[in-house]
Formats: sequence, C-alpha cells, structure tokens
Amino acid sequence: TGLAMVVGLGACGGTRSGTSTGESSSLEKGATIGISMPTKSEERWNKDGNNLKAKLEDAGYKVILSFADDKPAQQNSDIENMVNNDAKIVVVAAKDGTAVGPAVEKARDAGTKVIAYDRLIMNTKAVDYYATFQLEQVGVLEANYLIDSLGLKDGAKGPFNIELFTGSPDDNNAKYFFKGAWDLLQPYFESGVLVSPSNHGGGVTKDFTVDDWQKISVQSWKTEQAQKDMESILDSTYSQGQKLNAVLSPYDGITQGVINAIQSKRPDMQPGTDSWPFMTGQDAMEIAVANISQGLQGQTVFKNVNDLADAVYDMIIEIAEGKEVTGLNGKFNNNTIEVPSKLLDPVSITKDNLSDLVKAGYVTQDKFDQLT
Ligand code: BGC
Repeated sequence: TGLAMVVGLGACGGTRSGTSTGESSSLEKGATIGISMPTKSEERWNKDGNNLKAKLEDAGYKVILSFADDKPAQQNSDIENMVNNDAKIVVVAAKDGTAVGPAVEKARDAGTKVIAYDRLIMNTKAVDYYATFQLEQVGVLEANYLIDSLGLKDGAKGPFNIELFTGSPDDNNAKYFFKGAWDLLQPYFESGVLVSPSNHGGGVTKDFTVDDWQKISVQSWKTEQAQKDMESILDSTYSQGQKLNAVLSPYDGITQGVINAIQSKRPDMQPGTDSWPFMTGQDAMEIAVANISQGLQGQTVFKNVNDLADAVYDMIIEIAEGKEVTGLNGKFNNNTIEVPSKLLDPVSITKDNLSDLVKAGYVTQDKFDQLT
C-alpha cells in the first residue's frame, strides 16, 4: 500500500519544500478551530475531542468543541455554528458520513478547511484531509484472533459455530472493518469449518459478501441493540444447549451487548471454560479492559486516540502556518474524490498484553488496577 499510495497523491504532493505554498495564507494566532464529535455516549469520542482541544488551546488557538448526541441534524448545526463563529478549520468525526456533506460544503464555501477525523465524509469534494487508523487492519486483527483461538491454522476441523456483527450502517468505517475480517473468515465458511447457524441478517453463508455487511449491522453501534439481536439469535438457535464457539464483534460496546445476552439467556455458559465463546472488540474501552481481565472478552483492537489527536494537531499546525501537510501515507475514495489521508496502526490486545494500555499512556495505572 504505502509507497504507491503516497506517489499517487499528486495534487496535494508537489515538491516537499516544507515552506509556504503561497496558495494558503497562515492563520493568525488565536484563530478559531472547530471540533465536531458524533456523541458523548461512546467513550472514545470524549477522549478524542478533549485531547485535541487541549493541545490546540495550549498552542494558542480558540476551540469550539461539540458533541452531536448521535444526531446528524445536530452535527450539521454544530458545524454551521462553528463556521458562523469564524472557524478557519473544522475537524469532523461524522455521525453519518453522508448526511454531514451539506454542512462541510457550506464550511468549504466560507473558506474553512475540513479534516475528516477517524470516519470519512462521503460523496463530497469538501474534504481536505482524512486521518484515521488502517481500517481493514482492524478486521484483520479481529479475524486472526478468532482463527488462532480456534486453532484453524493448525487444521482444526470444527465445524465451529460463529455469529457475526458489523458496526453502524451509516459509518463508512464499519464496512472496512468487516472487509478485513471477512476476507480471512470466508474461506473457512467455504470449507465448512466455520458455520453461522442462526438466521441473523438473513443468514451468513459462504456466499455472504462484504457488500452484505449492513444486513448484520448494529444501528449507531448501540450495546442495547446488539444485546437484543444476540438474544434473538440465542433464542432461535442456541436454546437447547448448542455450542457457540465464537463471535465476531467490531466494537467493545457491541461485545458488551453480546455478553449481556449470553448471561441472561445461557447462564450455563461460563467464562474461563470451554463453554464460553471467543469474542473480539475494538477501542480498548474501560469495560473491555475489565471484560478481558475476567475472561468475558478475548480481544480488543486498540487504537491510540492520543496518536490520532497528535496527527491531526500536526495537520492543523501545518495548515495554519500555510505549509504543506506532511506525513500523509494513503488516500481514501469517498465516492467523489481521493482524500489524502494519514493512516495509523491499530494493535491487537488480549489478556497477555493488556498492560500495554498503561505503557501506551492510554489507561492510568490506578484505573487499570481498578478495572483488572
Ligand atoms: C470508530 C471505532 C469505534 C466505532 C464506534 C468507528 O467509526 O472507528 O473506533 O469503535 O466507530 O464508536
């Protein structure tokens, strides 16, 4: 990926002088920057928003930080408000990657630069840069955890029962996460080693494709929705003591919903024993740290949002100083343009390396001790 993508950046590449391009003038100190986050109700966005705000304020910028309560209309008016308050740059983690288009187009018309944060903004030219984590790699790490845990590479024949979930249908990331996972899992469906016996999403078979991902999605990544879906899977397919070997979950909050469902419907399944399924997640949420330490969840994908805030901070400073944005290592197609992107690496976390979260400065030692 890397090299070809960087070479392909063309329009935004140019010569690496690192000096002013002459096209964009620098921002005055104290200029306003807007940060629009999708919701407070998922742990990470609070960290993301507050980290970036603190760094920008330290550098002397004024910051408007908003959380949209998972409502696209709210997010659009948040962004409009930022532009009305003369924000020169807006950083947007979209609730709905498509619905936010008109708001960033207005921002662009007002001369504001737009940075898509973590989630891509779709179907518009009005996105200057994108910063996120290698999206498919998240799914690759999840699938590999399940493949290793089930011993599939060592030739285990199964068949193993697995149930699969994807993220919110309005989040462009969710498809990529699933693609990374499904490309690795599908061959085991093909050979019959993995089966998904429930009729969840109309049934996941070897013929399921990445484009079917919304059939097994969880609206707004909600724990409660995942719990309901898992309860009906358990009622329909696992109520007679059938074995559930694994669950592909793309997010710790969804995993929590699955855990709740198992605990209410199948109290005979016990963590730490062979009766408990292998389960993945994402975000290294506090609840997941506790779940992993108790053997309720096997794995999570850790994305150090401090690093993402640093990367976006660097972009903002370069834009503000009228310099060329450096450190780009990819591009993403949003159905309209190729958006120059900065992609960071996610990390797989299990019980074995759980304390790496402390080493990375993501969780304090005190918090970690409370949770584990
Ligand atoms: C983010 C994930 C997060 C999910 C739910 C995705 O867009 O990339 O890190 O788990 O949203 O908040």
